[in-house]
Amino acid sequence: MAQTMQTENRPAPRRKGYGSALKYLGALLAVALLVFVGARLKGWQEQRLESRTVVLVNPWNYMDDTGYKPHLTNVGGGMKLDRSCAAKLKSMLADCRAAGYEPLLLSAYRDREEQEQLFAQQVQRLIDGGADAEQAEDLAAETVARPGSSEHELGLAVDIVDGTHPATDDTQERTGTQQWLRENAWRYGFILRYPEDASDLTGAPYEPWHYRYVGEDTAWQIYSLGITLEEYSSLFYNEEAEIVFDEAE
Ligand SMILES: [Zn+2]
Repeated sequence: MAQTMQTENRPAPRRKGYGSALKYLGALLAVALLVFVGARLKGWQEQRLESRTVVLVNPWNYMDDTGYKPHLTNVGGGMKLDRSCAAKLKSMLADCRAAGYEPLLLSAYRDREEQEQLFAQQVQRLIDGGADAEQAEDLAAETVARPGSSEHELGLAVDIVDGTHPATDDTQERTGTQQWLRENAWRYGFILRYPEDASDLTGAPYEPWHYRYVGEDTAWQIYSLGITLEEYSSLFYNEEAEIVFDEAE
């Protein structure tokens, strides 16, 4: 009887041992699968995030045609930005201050109504200055983006000036704040969006104070290649231009 019990009992621990080894293997595989799926999801998410933040808006690409919608959050001073870049802006400004400069955030997100007002004010200013009423809108568009074509409506663009010299003209480029931002903005995912001598490409005048968030990887590429977002978009999102890029290499 005891013998039978023993023989009956003996295989049981063996089965148990075999079973727990399988369980461990199963658990390991499950963890590996989770890590793999997690990594892929993260990759997809980053890709989606990156393509969202490189959305191109200019006089030839209106925001309403892009399907882009900002997800806004407060960045202080009554201003808002898209959630993708609010924290990046804060660290950029903090590090610029820590470097001894006085960056001053002048403008961030603008809704359509604000952009309409800005544009209408510029049109009126030109008419008051003697411009022909019919030509005033085209003239105004040379310095103020037409409603729907301003990056500020994306919540991905900011105007930053130096607190010791807050002028929004070409002299702004000489300030310590701009020199620091020019060298370092890419580290936070921002680019100088409207460089000098690039108006034909960007459709905007030189604006040494206007920075646009595009994500760190894209910002690094644009900064290191010394190109505009328009050129970046045609290089990486347009097959015809990609061939030109390959030939150029
Ligand atoms: Zn701006």
